[in-house]
Amino acid sequence: MRVAFLGLGHMGLPMARNLVGAGHDVVGFDVVPGAREAARASGLRVVNAATDAVADAEVVITMFAAGHQVIDAYRGGAGRPGLLAAAPGGILFVDCSTIAVDEARAAHALAEAAGLRSVDAPVSGGVVGAENATLTFMVGGARADVDAARPLLEVMGARVVHCGGPGLGQAAKVCNNMILAASQIVVAEAFVLGERLGLSHQALFDVAAHASGQCWALTTNCPVPGPVPSSPANRGFEPGFAGALMDKDLGLAEKAVELTGVDARMGMLARTIYREFVDGGGAGRDFSGIIESVRAPSDDPRSTA
Ligand code: NAD
Repeated sequence: MRVAFLGLGHMGLPMARNLVGAGHDVVGFDVVPGAREAARASGLRVVNAATDAVADAEVVITMFAAGHQVIDAYRGGAGRPGLLAAAPGGILFVDCSTIAVDEARAAHALAEAAGLRSVDAPVSGGVVGAENATLTFMVGGARADVDAARPLLEVMGARVVHCGGPGLGQAAKVCNNMILAASQIVVAEAFVLGERLGLSHQALFDVAAHASGQCWALTTNCPVPGPVPSSPANRGFEPGFAGALMDKDLGLAEKAVELTGVDARMGMLARTIYREFVDGGGAGRDFSGIIESVRAPSDDPRSTA
C-alpha cells in the first residue's frame, strides 16, 4: 500500500519503519526538520511538505503528541494547506495519536465532511512495542474502515481491537489508563503499608501476585526492586512509561469524565496524585516511581517495622 506517515517521533518512526520492512511504500513527514533528518538517516523516504506526502497516498497515518495538532493538520490554516484538502478522494485516515474522545470525534467529522474515511487507532505498548511491532491498537470507526486499516495495523502491532464507532478507540485508551493509574498507586501504597507492618516485599508479592490483588501494576511494573527484575524500580525508575505521559492520559480521562458526568472519584484522585508527581519532578521518571511520594509522607514513627 502507498502510505503517508506523518509524525516521526519516538513512536511514529519505528512504526513507519516496520511498514517499510513489510514491503509497503511509505513516505514520511514531520514538521520538525531534525525529526525528518533522523528518519532519513534511518533509511525512511521523507519529504519536506505534508501535502507532498499525502498527494499520492492510499492511507494517511498520523502519530502526533496532541489532539489540537491532529485537528490543525487535518484542517490546515495560517497559510498551511490541510491534509484533508490535499488528499485524494475517498482515502483512509488513521490517527494513532492519543487524544481526547471529543477531539477524535471532531477529527472524524472533518474527514467525513471532506468525503474521506477515518479511524482513531491509539496504541498501548510504548516505544519498545513500536520497535518490536507488538503494539495493541484500540480502534474506533466504521467496520469497513477498520477492516481497511487492519492489514497495516497488524504489521505494526500484535493485537487490533475494534472498540466501536468513531472515538471509541480513544475511549478504550482513557478507560484502560485510568484503571492503570489507580492500580499503580494502590499497589505502591500496599507495599509501603507492608513495609511499615514488617512484611517483606517478596512475601507480599508472592501472595498478591497469585491472589485477588493481582494486576499488571504489581506483576509487571512492580514498584519495588526484587520481585520482578525487569520492572523500572530495579533501574531507578527509568521509564518505562513516563509520569508526563500518564499525566497527559489522565488529563484526557478527566475531560471524558467531565463530558459524561460520571462519578469517577478514584480515577480523579489518581489524576490529582499524578499531577503532584509530575509537578514534583516525576515527569521523566516511570510512573511506578509514585511509591516514593507514598513513602515520604508516610515516614511515620508509628511504624512497627
Ligand atoms: P513525539 O512527541 O516523540 O512525536 C510526535 C511527533 O509528531 C513529533 O516529532 C512532532 O514534531 C510531530 N508532529 C506534530 N505535528 C505534526 C504535523 N502537523 N505534521 C507532522 N508531524 C507533526 O511523541 P511520541 O512519544 O511518538 O507519542 C506520539 C503519541 O503516541 C502521543 O499521543 C502519545 O501520547 C502516544 N503514546 C506514546 C507512548 C510512548 O511511550 N511514547 C505510548 C503510547 C502512546
